[in-house]
Amino acid sequence: MMNSLRRLGVIGDPIAHTLSPLIQNGMLKALDLQELYEAIHITPDNLHRFTEMARAEFTGFNATMPHKAALLPLMDELSADAVMYQAVNTVSVREGKLFGCNTDGEGFLMALKERGIAFEGGRIVILGAGGAARSVALKLAASGAERIVVCCRSLQKAEQLTSASVKISAASFESIAEQISKCDLLINCTPLGMDGVAAQFSDFSFLDFLPQEAAVCDLIYRPQKTQFLSEAGYRGHVICSGLGMLIYQAILALEQFLQTPLDLKQMREAVEQSLYQGGILQKEMA
Ligand code: NAP
Repeated sequence: MMNSLRRLGVIGDPIAHTLSPLIQNGMLKALDLQELYEAIHITPDNLHRFTEMARAEFTGFNATMPHKAALLPLMDELSADAVMYQAVNTVSVREGKLFGCNTDGEGFLMALKERGIAFEGGRIVILGAGGAARSVALKLAASGAERIVVCCRSLQKAEQLTSASVKISAASFESIAEQISKCDLLINCTPLGMDGVAAQFSDFSFLDFLPQEAAVCDLIYRPQKTQFLSEAGYRGHVICSGLGMLIYQAILALEQFLQTPLDLKQMREAVEQSLYQGGILQKEMA
């Protein structure tokens, strides 16, 4: 295990509310490494200067809004997923070179696997067409999903997704009930029902159209069990919260920084402990 870590951190604008230091330092502590992961406020104007400084001073860093796309041309090398999503969320510094990758989609697939949810050959409906929906839809399309329908308010936004994969099509947000009637996996990628967000689904009767064997995911992790998931669970569906994706994308990022595989169970427990101790999670759902 690497014992000569240089700086680690997450960059964004704004950055005050990021959970990444809590999550990454929890894992570093469990590995008996220095807890030196910090939140760094970097404005778009300073991004290029920061990446040049990072070559010498950093082991790696994560990126959040608004830098994920802007980092692409600043990297020396990119992973296939970063190219596919046209977004970088993790940069590891290797001998002064910047390797940009993106762990969001793979983190989501690991969360599905953990809950025993198979998607290969399946028909998937995604609600929302933002950044998270993009990584999830493209990763599922590239990993064996048969067909993906993105239900969203702005079809213009969905066009960027439909043009990126022939397996993805778009439909209106009002047509959810119709779209999910032939669906194996339903995923909420909107902020509807998230703590601190006023907007919520107007009602959940559309879930009555979902085939009984379909699984239901929410990318939201605060609360762990959204009303969307509760309603799906009440109807007998296997459910999956956004906590797994949050944790696994972070573990995959730390593996990139340390350039070594990590014990997933040990790291998941370390992250959960940090999130509970930090008051971010309440014990409600496994
Ligand atoms: P985003 O880029 O802002 O996209 C949000 C999407 O939701 C957009 O398509 C937006 O539609 C749609 N939307 C917002 N309000 C809506 C409403 N009232 N009715 C219908 N659609 C609505 O956000 P994001 O980064 O993709 O994140 C989406 C959610 O995923 C957030 O809750 C975030 O916390 C969660 N997330 C979780 C993880 C994880 O690790 N678990 C990772 C990333 C994101 P318009 O384009 O029409 O506004």
